[in-house]
Formats: sequence, structure tokens, C-alpha cells
Amino acid sequence: MTTPTLLQTTIAGSLPKPSWLAEPEALWAPWKLEGAALEEGKRDAVRLALRDQDQAGIDIVTDGEQTRRHFVTTFIEGLDGVDFEHKRTVRIRNRYDAQVPVVVGPVARRHPIYVADAAFLRAETSHRVKYTLPGPMTMVDTLHDAHYRSREKLAWAFAEILNEEARAIAAAGVDVIQFDEPAFNVYFDEVRDWGIRTLERAAEGLGCTTAVHICYGYGIKANNDWKKTLGSEWRQYEQTFPLLAASKIRQVSLECANSRVPIDLIALLEGKDVLVGAIDVASDRAETPEEVAAVIRSALRFVPAARLLPCTNCGMVPLPRELARAKLRALGAGAALVRAEIAF
Ligand SMILES: [Zn+2]
Repeated sequence: MTTPTLLQTTIAGSLPKPSWLAEPEALWAPWKLEGAALEEGKRDAVRLALRDQDQAGIDIVTDGEQTRRHFVTTFIEGLDGVDFEHKRTVRIRNRYDAQVPVVVGPVARRHPIYVADAAFLRAETSHRVKYTLPGPMTMVDTLHDAHYRSREKLAWAFAEILNEEARAIAAAGVDVIQFDEPAFNVYFDEVRDWGIRTLERAAEGLGCTTAVHICYGYGIKANNDWKKTLGSEWRQYEQTFPLLAASKIRQVSLECANSRVPIDLIALLEGKDVLVGAIDVASDRAETPEEVAAVIRSALRFVPAARLLPCTNCGMVPLPRELARAKLRALGAGAALVRAEIAF
């Protein structure tokens, strides 16, 4: 296996879990196993996720987030200062209500959270590997804060914790650490005032490549309904990209396929690696390789091939497993089509 130098493919992060491990086609799905059987099952699921990505021709692979129930909450479960017993209802990203845990004291990380999982991922594949963590602002937005009473203060506390975890994950040999910040697409004033700085704090001093993922969310009803209110052109990225271009974060993962994001906005990310979403995670049909290639070609007008990484729009955890596999294959094949056109 040789890794291409141009148009290296990757995914936003998550993949569906096997039905013997968790309820299929659901977010926050409960585990179906317990104890040692659960730990063994999670690792077997990681092996399958790696195999699916390998067979599809994905170059920079993830563990498919097979070891966590939720991309934010599972991380927070590992911290002190958060009460999971008495949940409160809050509005997530101004969009939908969810029962969330409550910050009741200073937040702290007493032990590693994903470090053993990251080491396992590293040991199971010869591909370059990416590990995903929630971003500070998105963490703040998934909790009720009864202690700091300040979104910014809580974000700084989370940024320090994330940095400790990220340094340990990088030391386990991971090539890329990506922070997921869908909240960056909603709270533009906060992104400008403290969002970028807390993200940089989370990524400070990491020896590996750093990335941020900003999207319009999973293909669930609340997000799909919200997208309908955004008008004919989605220009949310226009406010954030210039700030990210000036930041220390090296890669930006964004949504393009089937979206109303004007593709020329990616020109605002000059100097960054751009992970172009060429797979729609809200459709129940697999793209054709040609459709993937068309998105890549349009992005190539604004980003050179060495800095363009074909990717998925967002995580695929809520999708049927076969559909996600077909979308992975389309991503790998579509990138190969364009690679063949530009390699001469
Ligand atoms: Zn996303």
C-alpha cells in the first residue's frame, strides 16, 4: 500500500457501530454489552472500522469513534466537577433541546480518557491515524453551567483539560488530532472573542498535525430543519474562516457536498489544509465516485491538490452501516479519479 501525496482522503470521524455493540441508526445509542465484553466489543468494532476504511482507500483513518457513545458527553463523563445524576434541559446550538449534565464545581481531568483507545488505534493499522476530541466551545454548549456562570471561563477550563488529553494522545503516536467545533457555525461573536483562542489553547504545543471540524451537524431532523431556515446561500463560514486562517490550527474540515455553502469561501482558508466534505451524511443514497470527483474538482479551483483532503461532511454514526460503507468506497474512488487526472 502506498499513500498518495495528493488528495489524501480522510473522514470527519465517526462511523456506524455494529448492531451487536449498540442500537443501530441512533445517536447516543446505549451499549448492548457490559463489562469486559463491552471493552472487547469496542475494540473489535474499531478493527472493523479500520478494515472498512482500508478497503475503501481512505488514507488517514480514525477509530470510527466506536469506543464512545457521544462525541462530547463521553469525554465529559471522564471529568470531575460534572453531575450526570441531575440533568437539566438546555437548547443545543439554539436548535434542539437535550437533557444534559450540570457543571457543579471546578472541572478537572484526574486520569486519561481516550489515551488507551488512541494507543490501540495506533497499534492496529499502518495508515496515518487521526483522533477526534470535542472543542471547548462545543463542550460548553452541551452542558448546563451552575458553577462558572461564564461560557468563556468554562471554555478556558475545558481548553486546559483538552490540551492535557491531546498531549497524551499525541504521545501515543497519533498523526492528527481534530477538535470538533460545530458550535463555531452558530456563535460567531463568541468565536471571535474567545472561541479561536480557547481552541488554540487546547491544541497548544502538540507535535502532531492539528485540525478543527466545523459543520452543519449530523443528518438528523433538528439539523435538517435548521438548514431549511438558512436561505439559498450558507455563508456562516465566511465569518470564521479568516479567523481560522490566522490561527495556529493547520487543517479545517468543512461541509461541501449537497450543501449551499458557496465553494469559493474555502479560498478564505489560505495556507491551511482543507478537508473538503464530498460525502453528504444527510442523504440515504451513496454518492457515485463521479459525484465525489465533481466536488473535489470544484474545490481544486480554490485549494491546491497538496492541501486538499477529500472527506465526509460530518460523522456517519447515525447512518445504516451498509450505506456508510458505500459512501466510504465512493469517497476513496472519487478521489482516485481526480488523482489520475492531475498526476502527470
Ligand atoms: Zn460534524
